[in-house]
Amino acid sequence: MPDDSTTQAIDTAARMLRNDLERTCGASPAAAVALETALAGRRAWVDAWPEGAEHVPGLVAQDVQEIIHASVDDRWPMCPEHLDHPLFIEPDLGPDAFWVCDRSGLPVAPVGGL
Ligand SMILES: [Zn+2]
Repeated sequence: MPDDSTTQAIDTAARMLRNDLERTCGASPAAAVALETALAGRRAWVDAWPEGAEHVPGLVAQDVQEIIHASVDDRWPMCPEHLDHPLFIEPDLGPDAFWVCDRSGLPVAPVGGL
């Protein structure tokens, strides 16, 4: 039986990351595959730990980034200020994850807000 709260958490993360991907790399087929792979991987995780739902967007963002770095572009998403390095997710595990410039240490945008 499908768990609605799992589906909701996954759908929310999907919406946020789809926005970030569309704004930064034009929703390429490779990006869509990366997102689907990351979402599928996290579904079992949130099924096993429903209280972790608020962490899912930040985790999916990190998973998508890892997949894209390995296969497409090792600088996604590009820091809009420096244009020569990628942004990273902070915190590694937590609600309200942000894309952060590791050079300035400053948050650039929330996940879903690039
Ligand atoms: Zn930067």
